Amino acid sequence: MTTCKQTEGVPFTDLIAPHRELEEELVGVFRAALRSAQFVGGPQVDAFEQAFAAYCGTADCVGVASGTDAMRLALTACGIGRDEAVITVANTFIATVEAITMAGASPEFVDIDERTCNMSPDALDEYLSSCAIDARSGRRLGRRTGLPITAIVPVHLYGQMADMDAILAIAERYGVVVVEDACQAHGAEYRCADGTWRKAGSFGRAAAFSFYPSKNLGACGDAGAVTTSDPDVARTLRMLREHGQATRYLHELEGCNSRLDAIQAAFLRVKLKYLDAANIERRVAAHGYDTLLAGVLPVTLPHELECSRSVYHLYVVRHEMRDELLRSLDSRGIVCGRHYPVPLHLQPCYRHWGYRPGSLPLTEASANQSLSLPMYPAMTAAQQRRVVDAMVDAFAIEVSA
Ligand SMILES: *Cc1c(COP(=O)(O)O)cnc(C)c1O
Repeated sequence: MTTCKQTEGVPFTDLIAPHRELEEELVGVFRAALRSAQFVGGPQVDAFEQAFAAYCGTADCVGVASGTDAMRLALTACGIGRDEAVITVANTFIATVEAITMAGASPEFVDIDERTCNMSPDALDEYLSSCAIDARSGRRLGRRTGLPITAIVPVHLYGQMADMDAILAIAERYGVVVVEDACQAHGAEYRCADGTWRKAGSFGRAAAFSFYPSKNLGACGDAGAVTTSDPDVARTLRMLREHGQATRYLHELEGCNSRLDAIQAAFLRVKLKYLDAANIERRVAAHGYDTLLAGVLPVTLPHELECSRSVYHLYVVRHEMRDELLRSLDSRGIVCGRHYPVPLHLQPCYRHWGYRPGSLPLTEASANQSLSLPMYPAMTAAQQRRVVDAMVDAFAIEVSA
């Protein structure tokens, strides 16, 4: 009997294998939660917050319900809100911008550095220097909104930090707060001007992390956290996540319910121990791709700044025929993604902001060309070879280079 030899596909990510390895330890977490009946807040949450703050190199960490809440509450706790404009980028997950508008502020977009796809400090500087100045406050007024610009939200996209030295210097010059969207960058590092390497989350007044299961550090469901070294911001966050109360039933602020479950915190504390090892595996896989692809196929490879160490949440290549390439790989069982195909300034829900195609040319080019290849810590060299072989076939057969 002959069987047709099927080439195996490659999944986009693998969330099963890493949890299988930790199964006993993780099940122990659930047992402990059941037996203590401490489900929300409590010692498990405190312990994770301390461990994650220590990991990121910040004085504090406040656990919340999701990355979106982390971003929104971080802005609110930093005093950013109604009738203010916040500068960010449009090539990110919509949560970045939802958080800004939910905090009551309004976004102003600047274009990206086309090599890294992160906020371009040059575009940021150019944008701010061309804004009108509010006579009363001395603040720059957003070009779209006419509102005073009070904050900048750089997004550490795909696991690589934005160029923080440059962004922080500009922010200081214009007197605005920086809040990092670090939802894709747990453990990413950046070498500061003084030569020290510091982790994502330790640069802004505050930083938002998501622990959605597919992130580099993922919970057993939804969870998030804000890191900060500002005690006032931390104190305000602790109130905001718990209905604005520091003392029960005495509400200093109007807050919300955005608490971190004890089970999630305990689960995350176990997985935090393995984060560095998992990030190293991602970097090894990224290197593997670099080596297999460089000079072999006409795709643009991810660019890592000399002053940064990416944790490769995603490995994103670029090609003008991205959609053909994606379809062709899909038909060969290689599951890829697009992050993100429609930039936020062109989303239907933000039509009323009046951005048109061409407003952010580099952002739009990246949205049209970016292809995320399979990437996860346990990825094998054989799987990477299969991805690249499928790409070679795709270019030979369906995609004209
Ligand atoms: C995942 C993500 C978020 C939102 O996190 P959730 O936990 O899903 O709410 C925000 N910003 C970016 C860049 C993300 O990737």
